[in-house]
Amino acid sequence: MTAQRLDGKACAAEVEADLTLRVAALKKSGIEPHLAVIIVGDDPASHVYVNSKVKTCERLGIRSTHIALPASTEEAVLRDHIATMNHQADLHGILIQSPLPSHMDEEALTDLIHPSKDVDGFHPQNLGRLVQGRTDGMLPCTPSGVMRMLDWAGLELTGKRAVVLGRSRIVGMPAALLLAAKGADATVTVAHSRTQDLQALAAQADVIVAAVGRPEMVKADWVKPGAVVVDVGINRVDDPTRDRGWRLAGDVSPEVEDVAGWLSPVPGGVGPMTIAMLMENTVRAAEHRRSEQGE
Ligand code: NDP
Repeated sequence: MTAQRLDGKACAAEVEADLTLRVAALKKSGIEPHLAVIIVGDDPASHVYVNSKVKTCERLGIRSTHIALPASTEEAVLRDHIATMNHQADLHGILIQSPLPSHMDEEALTDLIHPSKDVDGFHPQNLGRLVQGRTDGMLPCTPSGVMRMLDWAGLELTGKRAVVLGRSRIVGMPAALLLAAKGADATVTVAHSRTQDLQALAAQADVIVAAVGRPEMVKADWVKPGAVVVDVGINRVDDPTRDRGWRLAGDVSPEVEDVAGWLSPVPGGVGPMTIAMLMENTVRAAEHRRSEQGE
C-alpha cells in the first residue's frame, strides 16, 4: 500500500483563493487587513518562518508590519510594542514569533495581546473558549490547519480512535481538543514523554497526529494499516549528502508511507496549512472589526 498524500500545499492554495476574495471585500468597505509580526533575535529558522508569513501576506493583499528586534531587547520594550499595537485601530493581528530569547517570558507576553488580535490563538481566553468546545473563535493555527486538511481530504473522524503524540500548548493539546470537539467527534488519546508503550498505543489508532519534535520517531510498525497519519514535526537533521549539510525531517519515518492510508508530507503538509490558518485568523479579525463598525 502507498499512502495517499495529505497535500497541505494544495489545500492551503484553496484557502488562500478564498481569502483573496474576502480581502478584496474588506478593502471595498475601507478596511485593509493588517498583521504585525514581531521577531526577537537572530534564529535563522524563525527568520525563514517570518519571511514566509510576510510573503504570504503580500500575495493575499494583507498589509504586514515586520518588527525585528535584537536578542538583547528587554522584555519591557516588547510589552510597549504590544500595548501600542493593541490600541492601533488599523491593525488586526499581532504575532510574536516563537521562540523568544530565554530572558523573556513568552507566555506572559502572549497574555498581553488583546484576544481579538491574538491571531496565533494562544491567549488564555481563546484557548479557554476551545476547552469549552467553542470552536468558532481564534484557533491555534497548526492544529486548526490539521483539521482543515483532514476535512478537505474528506476524511471522516466520527468515532475514530485518534492518538495525538505531544501535549504542547501550541500543537498537541489544542489538536486533541479539536479532534474531540463536537462535529469532529473522534475519541482521543493524548500521549507524551511519560506515556508507556507508545508504539502499541499508536498502533491502535485510526488517526495519528505526530507532534513530538523527534525526527522520524513514528516507524512503520507503529501504524495500523490504512491509518491516517499527520506529521506535524519539522526537524533539521544532519545530511552530508546535501550541499547545505542538512535536510528537513518530520516526526514520521518515510517508510510509514507503505503502511498508512493517508500521510502528510514534510515539507508541504502541515507547514503551509499553518500559515494559511494564520492568514485566515487575520482576515477574520478584520471582518470582525468591520461588523463592529456596523458596515
Ligand atoms: P514541544 O517540544 O513543545 O512539545 C513536544 C511534545 O512531545 C511534548 O508534549 C513532549 O512530552 C512530547 N514528546 C517529546 N518526546 C517524546 C517522546 N519520546 N515520546 C512521546 N512524547 C514525546 O513541541 P511543539 O509541540 O511545539 O512542536 C512539535 C513538533 O512540531 C516540532 O517538530 C515542531 O518543530 C513542529 N511544529 C511544526 C509546525 C508546523 O507549522 N508544521 C508548527 C509548530 C510546531 P512532554 O510534554 O512530556 O515533554
